[in-house]
Order: sequence, then structure tokens, then C-alpha cells
Amino acid sequence: MEPIAVYVHTPFCPSKCGYCDFNSYAMDGEIMDRTARAIVTEIRRSPHKGRPAKTIFFGGGTPTFLPIDGLLSILEAVMQTHPPAEPCEITSEANPGTVDAAKFRAMRSAGFNRISIGAQSFRDRDLSALDRVHRADDIVRAVKSTRDAGFQNVSLDLMFALPNQSIDAWLKNLDCATTLEPEHLSLYCLTIEPNTRFYKLQRKGMLLLPGDDAQATMYDAAVERAESAGLRQYEISNFARPGFECRHNLAYWRGEEYAAYGPGAVERVGGVRWTHIKHPLRYCVAVERGDDLACEREALTPGMRRTESIMLRLRLNEGLPLNLAQPDPEGLAEAKRKGWIEQSNGAVRLTREGRHFCNQAILALL
Ligand code: SF4
Repeated sequence: MEPIAVYVHTPFCPSKCGYCDFNSYAMDGEIMDRTARAIVTEIRRSPHKGRPAKTIFFGGGTPTFLPIDGLLSILEAVMQTHPPAEPCEITSEANPGTVDAAKFRAMRSAGFNRISIGAQSFRDRDLSALDRVHRADDIVRAVKSTRDAGFQNVSLDLMFALPNQSIDAWLKNLDCATTLEPEHLSLYCLTIEPNTRFYKLQRKGMLLLPGDDAQATMYDAAVERAESAGLRQYEISNFARPGFECRHNLAYWRGEEYAAYGPGAVERVGGVRWTHIKHPLRYCVAVERGDDLACEREALTPGMRRTESIMLRLRLNEGLPLNLAQPDPEGLAEAKRKGWIEQSNGAVRLTREGRHFCNQAILALL
């Protein structure tokens, strides 16, 4: 059987961040144990049982906020249902306020071999503004604990274009991150999504965000600093030392199949994509009753596959192979003329300039 990427969604966080539109809930107590048990039950009933895992990724929410027994019981169920293929990248997202050395040691012993830490900023003022529960010192401690526990593949997430953030402050953040010598960096521009506290603040004119030019400068500076620290850009927002690119996310960007478990998790197997029931309690009840867990389901048409290939592959430095999806010829010519796209070796890819116009370039190619 063909190995597959496996995703597990754990939806709990200590509090809800003001910018967050992920399927996450500020809940704790019994619902966390019940959800962990339900996820294990779902995995053990999987129709994909026996299909080896090429990667396993725990996201959220905050996986490390789950009680450790629950977290490890889910990993055990995944590994029994999807025997890890060699080598298998096994990642957990972790937030600095929810981890300690003992937890990382237990995770490493159980089989996790990659940790992705949601650092976001090394300035306490930014972290408070974002409603994060951790402080800068916690990030440093968390990275040290991963190393002490034996993790040799650690990623840090940072966000830029934060409220009142100067370019200088962003550069200091990058320096703090690279000083910790992570194998991987994810650098995301803060985006304001509907149904978030930040969206309401922005509508009231109470959120002062860096403008487009400052954002572009921050992005260019980030690429430069990351690359000079030995972290090569391989995706529009992602950088890694050679060999440490996130294999799980590469599978997603390359349009490969992925099995998924847990509230709100999205699975794509056999040309069908479906989303799990999002609310943890409703998800638990559905698992316990043996009901259908889907809240949305769609069969992917050739047109949808082409659109997704263009949207996702163009984010990668390796680009979009033209034998996979044909871009609109006029749009391609226009994007090349504007200097956004280059073509070589049977693929089209964004130029450095084009990375600032990724959405427009994708629209042109569609
Ligand atoms: S920690 Fe992450 S998932 Fe949780 S509320 Fe904050 S942004 Fe959302």
C-alpha cells in the first residue's frame, strides 16, 4: 500500500488568540480526555487502516495543551493504524506556554521526531497584543527543552506585520529566532480574518498595522536574514536547512493524499475531500454513536484539481510542473511580462518580485 501523510487535529488552546480563525477552542477539563478517546476510536476504525504513514502531523489548536497521556495514546493509535514508513517525519505543533522538559522527553520517547513551536514574536508586548499565553523567555526555554529531549528537527513560527510593529522590531525578532538555530522557520504575515477579535478592532479603526510597503520590506528582510542564517527558502513562507523541509506540508502543497482525524480535520483521499465535524463535543457524540463524522464533503473535479495545483504548487520554489496543470496561456504571458513568473525545465515558478504578487500571479494563471 502507498504510504500516506496523516494529520491529527487537536482543537484545544489555553485561550483564544485575537487573530485566530483556526478550529480551536478555549476549553479544558473532561472534554479534552473525551476528545482524545474519541480521536483514538476514530483512528482505530479508519478505512485506511494498514496504509503506512509517510508523515504524521499533530496540529491544532495546541496539541501540547492536551494531557500527555491523551496525546501519546493518539500517537500510539496512529502508529498502529498507519505503521510509519522509513523515514517517517512525526511532528507536533507546540506552544511555549504549554510545554516543559518532561513533556518533550515523553513525546520524543513515544516517537515524535519534529517539533514546530509557535513562537510568533520575541517581544512580550507583541505577545500580549496577540493574546498569546507565553512570554519570550518561554520560547527560549522551550527550544532548549526540545534539544535536551533529543529533538534534532525544530521549527519556529514567527509572524510579521503585527500591530504597531516596526521594521526594526521585526529584524530583532528574526535575529532572536536564528540565534536559537532552528532547522526550520515559518514566517507568516498577520492576516485579519472575519469572526476574530482583531477583525472587529480593525473595523473600529483600533488596530494600527504596518502598511503594504512596510510589509513588503519586512518580507524581503526576512528572506535575506533567513538565507544568511543557512535557512533556504523552499516555499513562500517557509525556510529550512537542506534536508529539513517539512515533508508533511510538502505533501499537502504537492497535492498528495492525506488521511485526517479529529474535530475539524480535513482529509483528502481518492479524489474526495471532506471536513470533520468541528465542535469537539459534537464530534465526540458522533464518534460515540458511530455516526457519519463529515460536515462537508466534495468530490474533486478535474477543474478543481487544476486550480488547487496552480494555487499550491506556485507557492513552492520548485514551482508548478507544466505536465501537471496547464496555466492560462494569456495569463502566463502577462505574468511573465510583469516579471512575476519565470519558466524553465518544464515548470513555472514565482520570481523574487513575483512573491509579493502571489495571489495576482495565481489569478493570472487560472
Ligand atoms: S494558540 Fe494558535 S490555534 Fe490556539 S488560539 Fe492561538 S492562534 Fe489559535
